[in-house]
Amino acid sequence: MRRQLIAGNWKMNMLNTDAVSLARQVKLKVMGFHRVDVLVCPPSTALTQVSEVLGDSEVSLGSQNLHDRRSGAFTGEISGEMIRSAGAGWVIVGHSERRQLFGDTDEWINRKLHAALEAGLHPIFCVGESLEEREAGALSEVISRQVRVGAGDLTPELLQHVVLAYEPVWAIGTGKTATPEQAQEVHALIRGLVQELGGEAVSGELRILYGGSVKPDNAGELLSQPDIDGALVGGASLKADDFCLIAQAAESIIK
Ligand code: PEP
Repeated sequence: MRRQLIAGNWKMNMLNTDAVSLARQVKLKVMGFHRVDVLVCPPSTALTQVSEVLGDSEVSLGSQNLHDRRSGAFTGEISGEMIRSAGAGWVIVGHSERRQLFGDTDEWINRKLHAALEAGLHPIFCVGESLEEREAGALSEVISRQVRVGAGDLTPELLQHVVLAYEPVWAIGTGKTATPEQAQEVHALIRGLVQELGGEAVSGELRILYGGSVKPDNAGELLSQPDIDGALVGGASLKADDFCLIAQAAESIIK
């Protein structure tokens, strides 16, 4: 059985004092949860302080992005090793905002996945189609390209450390959620693609998160789908109550 993972992407929100306070609340509220993994991804400026707050609690820590190089003249960027040294074990790679606003291509995302794994981080590799692509009937073509170019050259040994996230671009921050059936269909497609790449054992263990306007009131239905193994949560992760209600929904689902 795959453990559900509920990950909060705080994006460019939270000054350090707010980040520390939110992390403290999340840590307290999920204490005693046994069947769900919980992860928070604050802005990189707050990683070290949040790491100190989380300590060895059940809540894990991740970054929202990394550069594919280890060091050098890349002003403003951070490497996988830097993320590790700030106390984090996870990193989001290929978020649609990075793809749309900051020029992350499938090829660059592939190099970032390699860099994350080399640094010993668990990447959350995001894929998802735009509304135009969905309406043009290109959904499976887009998802296949993103998965194959992004992760196609990873060995099964490396692939097993990767978590996928399906985030339809039209559902991110819009209040529009994919229906559980729409999400399940794409999650099954992704699992099939990963089976082709890494074999049945890897795809069977692969966790695929859904992301796109997940809230406490829609989490249960989404997370109950057979191929949905958790959620990547943006807006609702900024409120400890809402985020932990989503984690609670995951905790109470038995598949
Ligand atoms: C996200 O940005 O990863 C996300 C899913 O955002 P939201 O939950 O706000 O749609």
